[in-house]
Amino acid sequence: MRILVLNCGSSSAKYQLFDYEEVAAKGSVERIGESVSLFTHYSETFQTKKSPIDAPDHTKAIDKILEALNAKEKKIDAVGHRVVHGGEKFSSSVLIDSEVMKRVQDCIPLAPLHNPSNIKGIEACSALLPGVPQVAVFDTAFHQTLPDYAYIYGIPYSYYKKYRVRRYGFHGTSHYYVSNRAARLLNRPIEELKIVTCHLGNGCSIAAVKYGKSVDTSMGFTPLEGLLMGTRSGDFDPAVVLFLMEKENLDTVGANSVFNKRSGLLGISQTANDMREILRESKEGNELATLAFEVFTYRLKKYIASYSGVMGGVDAVVFTGGIGENAKEVRESSLSELEFMGVELDRRKNDELSAGEHIISKEDSNVAVLVIPTNEELVIAKETERICIS
Ligand code: ADP
Repeated sequence: MRILVLNCGSSSAKYQLFDYEEVAAKGSVERIGESVSLFTHYSETFQTKKSPIDAPDHTKAIDKILEALNAKEKKIDAVGHRVVHGGEKFSSSVLIDSEVMKRVQDCIPLAPLHNPSNIKGIEACSALLPGVPQVAVFDTAFHQTLPDYAYIYGIPYSYYKKYRVRRYGFHGTSHYYVSNRAARLLNRPIEELKIVTCHLGNGCSIAAVKYGKSVDTSMGFTPLEGLLMGTRSGDFDPAVVLFLMEKENLDTVGANSVFNKRSGLLGISQTANDMREILRESKEGNELATLAFEVFTYRLKKYIASYSGVMGGVDAVVFTGGIGENAKEVRESSLSELEFMGVELDRRKNDELSAGEHIISKEDSNVAVLVIPTNEELVIAKETERICIS
């Protein structure tokens, strides 16, 4: 089956074309809606870097992608879409029809920045590929197994009933993928394992995956809660929002910008949201960069330990995402002092890591530590195939 996987953001469309689980082509259109958009396309036979195109909307961008994929000659059998928020309505992937579209639209208030772009991608494909089945794979679905005591906030219950304010969790496709890969690498059934998965990219989240099911996760009602991130604050006292709104004369748009775009590594370091730069600055003696690094890894350590407690133990800790896969300093610092739980990192393996999947704990460590590059697109392709075949 030739399956197109699409991940549409507000001004971008990233794609991968799978031909029987092999990536046949991939790329992106960025700056959709601007005067000049940028198209990048890689395939075995063709490679271009950032060519300017005219893509005033997602339909034009996807049309360009289909053209590059030669979709007229070589038929695309199905499209899998990453959809960020499925609310409480979707606990697994679904074939898209008008009822599903309505429900995804109902979730817009829960993800106003993401779901509208995902919908645009689906609508564009309906117009450009009529009759081709489309599947929605939700970032929130894997976390729908959280027990109520893990997803209910300590605020009036009526707000949950009225507005569905609760923890949803995100990056579900990634947590699902790396926890299952970890079980494979450890050669044990996932139904026997307690795994903490750390997805550390520009957005960061951590999940407690017990016997294959997510039982807790750090992102909440929105992707703002939990770990420190590139520009997002993660956890802090919500009274600070009220205090700063008054002191700084902020409206909701201004407050949103402070906590989503000007906080996190960037907010503390005042220099960079990128972990590579934070590490470089810190080595050069920038104290605020060092502080940002320490806040990041300290909080990660707190979550790893608490999620181990939540599951009554832990068999494996998995790192993924740009930071999780590449920043040895983050892995070492966040696992230091967790020896009491049976975590024994092999420093040499951690330091000398090559690309790919690796176990980086000592042979006799009670808790395995793994680095596993995530592959959300592959999960989306497989889910799409599963649903279209069944
Ligand atoms: P996204 O969430 O946008 O998919 P990525 O998973 O690509 O992001 O992660 C981006 C983060 O990974 C950035 O903070 C970047 O600094 C970090 N990163 C990438 N490569 C390295 C590296 N070699 N060392 C440290 N951090 C890295």
